[in-house]
Amino acid sequence: MLRVWGEGAVGAADEVFRPHRGTPLSGSPARRPRVGRVGQGTGDEVVALLVDGPGGAAEVEVQCHGGPAAVALVVAALEGIGVRRRPAGDWNSRRFGSPIRAMAFEDLSAAGTDRAARHLLAQAQGALDLELEAIREGVSVDPAGAIGRLERLIDRAEVGCRLVAGWRVALAGRPNVGKSRLLNALAGYGRAIVSPTPGTTRDVVTARIALDGWPVEVADTAGLRETLDPIESGGVTRARSRHEGADLVLLVLDQSEPLTETDRALVAEYANAVIVRNKCDLPAAWEPEASWGGGAALEISAERGDGLEELVAIVSRTLVPDPPRVEEALPFRAEQREQLIDALRLVREGRGDDAGRALDRLRSQGT
Ligand code: GDP
Repeated sequence: MLRVWGEGAVGAADEVFRPHRGTPLSGSPARRPRVGRVGQGTGDEVVALLVDGPGGAAEVEVQCHGGPAAVALVVAALEGIGVRRRPAGDWNSRRFGSPIRAMAFEDLSAAGTDRAARHLLAQAQGALDLELEAIREGVSVDPAGAIGRLERLIDRAEVGCRLVAGWRVALAGRPNVGKSRLLNALAGYGRAIVSPTPGTTRDVVTARIALDGWPVEVADTAGLRETLDPIESGGVTRARSRHEGADLVLLVLDQSEPLTETDRALVAEYANAVIVRNKCDLPAAWEPEASWGGGAALEISAERGDGLEELVAIVSRTLVPDPPRVEEALPFRAEQREQLIDALRLVREGRGDDAGRALDRLRSQGT
């Protein structure tokens, strides 16, 4: 869908739009869809309509066929008569009345889960703008209050900045403990494989899934399984580098077979991992050891599905310990977080005016 806006938008659309029948587009009542062609040769068959833009200005919406080639035909026709192409954000800024709301709207289109989308929608509707305005008013008269609110926003940005990119969870464990089975079970459990990640290598299999509504990429170091034992062949460094970028490691152990040296080494290696004892549908060959920090190992069966609900809850709590409420202000881009940290520093230094200017910049630029 293209939007033609600005002075002369309707005239420009009239020049390129060849209606199948009836008057030129400019003669149509607002919001009445018209069918016709745009573009050289037969061009693309499109639906065009006059719509009210922000502030009531007459604009034209052109609904093309999908696919880059059909859209390019229409764009070329418009550019051929001097219409300039603008980033979608320009129009969104006008439509939403603020750069931050426009950005939230843009990110909304990339949100992979409902829950992420709901949070972004609240920002597109102005939650973050409102909070920034309130903080802005307070920086000089109530610095302590402004500091508290800024700190809360910065905390929440940890979640906000993941709404599009998601979190990363890595599965670790020696071969045959059930890692890929667990990956599949989690993907099935979430019922939301958002997309197979492009760039999947032979070494790592990943799935984008919704865990408790949060977008999460789960990675299984599959290639290591067949080719290398992570401990014996020094492949541990490779495995570690896979897991280093992860927000959370799930260390999978097979409780139906005696623990091996590799298992013990992995437990020591991934001290912060959530330990899962897989295959609890089979008789247990060992019990968690006290030395594992209270033996917090969760019994699951990737095969039968036992314990998955609890595992999902634990992962969600670990990744997002303090979930924001949907209607709350949530910074959602790293640059916003940086600028908030800057503003917080300024208020703390007693430079309320400078902090106010930093917040004004944030609100006027969005990032
Ligand atoms: P990976 O090498 O760690 O990825 O292990 P796989 O997921 O390939 O599983 C290894 C074997 O264990 C396969 O035969 C699975 O069917 C089996 N397996 C995995 N999870 C379970 C489970 O929860 N219970 C039982 N009984 N078998 C399982």
